[in-house]
Amino acid sequence: MRLEGKVAVVTGAGSGIGRASAVALAAEGAAVVVSDVDADGGAGTVDTITGAGGRAQFVACDVGDHAQVDALVDAAVEAYGGLHVAHANAGIALPFEDGFSPLVDPAVWERVIRINLTGVFHTCRAAIPAIARSGGGSVITTGSSMSTVPLGGLDAYAASKGGVAMLTKSMAPSAGEIGVRVNAICPGYVETPMNAAILGSDELTAAFANDHATGFQTAEEIAQTVVFLASDESTAFAGAVLTCDRGWTSFKRPAAIDDMQRALARTVLDAG
Ligand code: NAD
Repeated sequence: MRLEGKVAVVTGAGSGIGRASAVALAAEGAAVVVSDVDADGGAGTVDTITGAGGRAQFVACDVGDHAQVDALVDAAVEAYGGLHVAHANAGIALPFEDGFSPLVDPAVWERVIRINLTGVFHTCRAAIPAIARSGGGSVITTGSSMSTVPLGGLDAYAASKGGVAMLTKSMAPSAGEIGVRVNAICPGYVETPMNAAILGSDELTAAFANDHATGFQTAEEIAQTVVFLASDESTAFAGAVLTCDRGWTSFKRPAAIDDMQRALARTVLDAG
């Protein structure tokens, strides 16, 4: 097992990519602190891990609140005697409220940035010193294909994920100095509850499926990238913004998205 004796924290681990990451880290021998605002989802992840013979416990935490994130990291160290891996993964997308900036309510912008970007900052701020004091390890941030290529006009989401990529690169040299590797993963379109909400309509889902030549991704395959970055197999990586999108950002985006974006942009004129 690649992570025997290691302790990991995963935020947003009650669903989707975070759940798959927590399960995969535990399957490699890590004791995992499963964290989420959704206690039922978190309990489900813990049950899956312990049911398979792994070690896990749930700690409720809103990543937008730095005091809660500090308490989460303290709880992990207290429970398992140290910390070696943190997956700063919690995030939201608000497809019907986020969009072209002139049409976005400032409260929506602030909520997306607070959870997706400030939440990663809070997690890294708390976890990096704890990992360093435990002898070193790895932080994995969850970016997105939209960290580098804006797809679909979700301005707040794209800005938050671009910020995650730059925050990751910016932290990496200093974190490396104290024995902590920090890298970002940038998945494409992964089949999770969040993605179902983003795509929304059957028409859009079909457009994406048809244009995404290699098919939608699974949370489990993204989790294997997390395990790789958490393990000593990835010592070459620090400050990497790792595209793991089955080539999605290399494809031309679906025409349906361009059409939708143009139509939405023109509604600004109607509002005037
Ligand atoms: P998901 O909705 O299935 O899971 C997200 C989890 O985060 C949920 O359990 C939710 O309760 C939790 N969460 C929400 N707000 C929180 C907060 N303030 N504090 C703590 N937990 C909170 O979504 P997912 O698709 O698994 O997304 C996970 C991460 O992956 C997000 O950062 C997302 O932006 C990113 N991502 C997803 C995709 C995709 O296609 N699904 C692609 C690229 C990146």
